Amino acid sequence: MVTIKVAINGFGTIGKRVADAIDAQKDMEIVGVTKTGPSFGCGLAVKKGFPLYCTFDDNEKISSFANSDYDCKGGLTDLLSIADVVIDCAPGKMGADNLQKYKSAGIKYMFQGGEKHSLTGLSYTSSANHSENFNAQGTRVVSCNTTGLSRTLVPLFDYCGSLKVECTMIRRAADPGDSDKGPINAIQPVLKVPSHHGPDVMTVKPEIEINSLAVAVPTTLMHVHSIIADLPEGHGLTTEKIIQMWKDTPRVIVMNGKDDRIPTTAEVMEMARDIGRKWGDLHEIFVWEDGVKLVNNRLYYFQAIHQESDVIPENVDCVRALMGTEKDWKLSVAKTDLAISEYYGI
Ligand code: NAD
Repeated sequence: MVTIKVAINGFGTIGKRVADAIDAQKDMEIVGVTKTGPSFGCGLAVKKGFPLYCTFDDNEKISSFANSDYDCKGGLTDLLSIADVVIDCAPGKMGADNLQKYKSAGIKYMFQGGEKHSLTGLSYTSSANHSENFNAQGTRVVSCNTTGLSRTLVPLFDYCGSLKVECTMIRRAADPGDSDKGPINAIQPVLKVPSHHGPDVMTVKPEIEINSLAVAVPTTLMHVHSIIADLPEGHGLTTEKIIQMWKDTPRVIVMNGKDDRIPTTAEVMEMARDIGRKWGDLHEIFVWEDGVKLVNNRLYYFQAIHQESDVIPENVDCVRALMGTEKDWKLSVAKTDLAISEYYGI
């Protein structure tokens, strides 16, 4: 089996998680990760045995590692020269600069949801458009919110053939590791309406008609989506059938808020910690069974998104799509998830 050589540019919230998930796979290896300079995050790379490179090529920045405990192997260009594909996990909106570097290196590239679709002209979620990304040179794994919407809406669309959706994203204000974001005692509506989250689904599944609003709330745990979807006449579905459909969908967890005593995102995150993935991550989208109701053609439901981790396994599947090594998205998802489970012994 050929092993795909993967570089991670940006080893922060998303980058360190993607690196672990890639490291778990038998058909991939991490050839290096980048940090902008010596910091506590380098310690994790060293502990994991990931070769450490500098995010930049200039000697001054590379030599900033010299007086630290961290052995820096070189600059970004050195790393790109030994990789088949680079996963850009830099903060959002840095993509345009980095894209030029990836093109110069002549390797495949993946961005995250902080970049616009127009950067690559192609976006990705496993269930929506794996085959469109097959053998592509570069793409963007959509954001945590778009990934979450795609997980539950795509199977519904595939069953019904059309779907009109209005949804509200109730967003966490900051990730747990961020100290410079808010609000901390307010609810902040996103006044650019509709918000970009819903329409972003159409970059991977253009047939779904969708709009969204968003508000930021003072929590670090998860996003919650409040969703109303209009199904076409003659859809043949019931509330129970829809719940079963999601129970049968990879990377969706359906539980009963009342009976399972899991009424809020706090309990959902506690359950995620019990599962045993690193950082207490929850790769799955969580749907409250008792919050799902179909009234005539109109479906109401809530779902919760662990913003730091639902996109992680998608990045792994996306590598297989770009490298042209697994055409069937369901087989890739199964391979990815099994390898991650074995990696963490769960
Ligand atoms: P982060 O700030 O936690 O990590 C970014 C890392 O990139 C840091 O280590 C930073 O030092 C490094 N970096 C800085 N400049 C860089 C450059 N020019 N090139 C490469 N790396 C550079 O950010 P994050 O939360 O991991 O977000 C990364 C991407 O993932 C963004 O596009 C973001 O929108 C997206 N995303 C984030 C979340 C989330 O909840 N955090 C969820 C889904 C998608």
